[in-house]
Amino acid sequence: MILFIFDFDNTLGDTYGPHGEGNIFRTKTLPDVAKATEIYEKYRRWSDDIVVYPKLLEEYGITDPQAFFINAGMSEQLYDDVVPFFIKLREYPEIQTVILTTGDEEFQKIKTHITGMDALVSEIYITRERNKIKHIKTLIEKYNPDKTIFVDDRINLSESHFDTPITIYEMNRANTKSWTNIIHSLGEIPLNEILWK
Ligand SMILES: [Mg+2]
Repeated sequence: MILFIFDFDNTLGDTYGPHGEGNIFRTKTLPDVAKATEIYEKYRRWSDDIVVYPKLLEEYGITDPQAFFINAGMSEQLYDDVVPFFIKLREYPEIQTVILTTGDEEFQKIKTHITGMDALVSEIYITRERNKIKHIKTLIEKYNPDKTIFVDDRINLSESHFDTPITIYEMNRANTKSWTNIIHSLGEIPLNEILWK
């Protein structure tokens, strides 16, 4: 079995694009965009920015976040290659997929649900820790895969942290970097090679 673990923000969903929360909070919350931006920036700069969402919702007076974000267009947040890629992965019974995302539990759950991603993967795993090593190890123990593929736009770990086979891809959607194991879209993951090796 092959375990694919994907980060969500800026790997699958474009946080700062037209339908990302960065833009939604700034332009769809208050009539005064400058004021909304000021509040957003204030909480984005918090060192513990995981608590940013409950605070933001409170300051903006959003009481039903799911309805608010659906109405604001968050369902369009995924990059174009995401849904076709995950539908393709479902053709392979030997592949399991997990989204491992850092953030506020409620907010990350809302996002993965509104975008439809929770229907396309085996599991959504949410942590408040930026370092994902421990959580990847927990998932490897749970699924017991022959190999693991991890894809994230912020890589702060390496293959040497694991004693089971793992390949790490850095997702660089902005297309500013080029190196081994840096990818710019999901289509660059060498699926055939991974499946047949
Ligand atoms: Mg990310």
